[in-house]
Amino acid sequence: EIAYYQNKFIDVDSPALPIDERGHQFGDGVYEYIRVYDGTPLFLDEHLDRLEKSAAEIKLTLPYRRDEITGIIYEGIKRSSLKEAAVYFQITRGIAPRNHSFPNVKAVFSMTVKKATIFTDEARTKGISVMLRQDERWANCFIKSLNLLPNVLSKQEAIEKGYDEAIFVHEDFVREGTSCNVFMVKDGTLYTPPATRHILHGITRKAVLDCAREYNIPVREQAINTTFFKNCDEAFITSTSIEIMPIYSIEDQILPKERPVTERLYSAYQNFYKQEV
Ligand code: PMP
Repeated sequence: EIAYYQNKFIDVDSPALPIDERGHQFGDGVYEYIRVYDGTPLFLDEHLDRLEKSAAEIKLTLPYRRDEITGIIYEGIKRSSLKEAAVYFQITRGIAPRNHSFPNVKAVFSMTVKKATIFTDEARTKGISVMLRQDERWANCFIKSLNLLPNVLSKQEAIEKGYDEAIFVHEDFVREGTSCNVFMVKDGTLYTPPATRHILHGITRKAVLDCAREYNIPVREQAINTTFFKNCDEAFITSTSIEIMPIYSIEDQILPKERPVTERLYSAYQNFYKQEV
């Protein structure tokens, strides 16, 4: 495992943050999370595209060029000696005496490269339970910002109530999970909420939609209400870390055990990183 802060590689447990760093004072920054399979980061270009978009949306000038960030990521993976890894990196508006207006300082890049969480086949067969939670976040959730307090509180609420995850709902329409996108299958068609400003445009979400189109599974990106969600044939969440994970229950509604479409999509998704056999 390895970390990076202020232009140099450091140990993951070495103290790094100056007290006046805007990341922890304001959550004033953006981040990305990339999965590394067999030493290679998956969808690196897509993650860097989204990073640039998030940064532009909050008027943050990145401290390094794109090829420099790519170089730091590859160097970090190399130094970590990990094959199956997760790269977390964030860029904050820098270090300056606490004041809401933008300081005239360089943005700060930090990164950790850690072991990826591997989910067992048993965990994937079981799937997860979810609750529905009113979305109290702001109107720009397509920006991958460091401000995650509603996500943190909702995830904790789910766990305290005995669920694995909370799915945000607004006026009866399903949006996304606290750190994942959400899909469902009804009568052979794959449904997911549209990529509006109210959800993160997940890289895994896009990859799953591409897989579905390739397999001629009909796809609808449309508004989905909670009744439709609870009455679906299959449902799953997606994210870089969890890939595709089935949902086995939505509050008191138990979903069918057969998941033919989810299974096809999961095996298709694995082709993005598995060596051909
Ligand atoms: N929505 C939210 C709120 C998230 O935090 C994440 C994970 N970063 C996702 C969706 C999934 O995005 P991705 O597939 O790019 O990891």
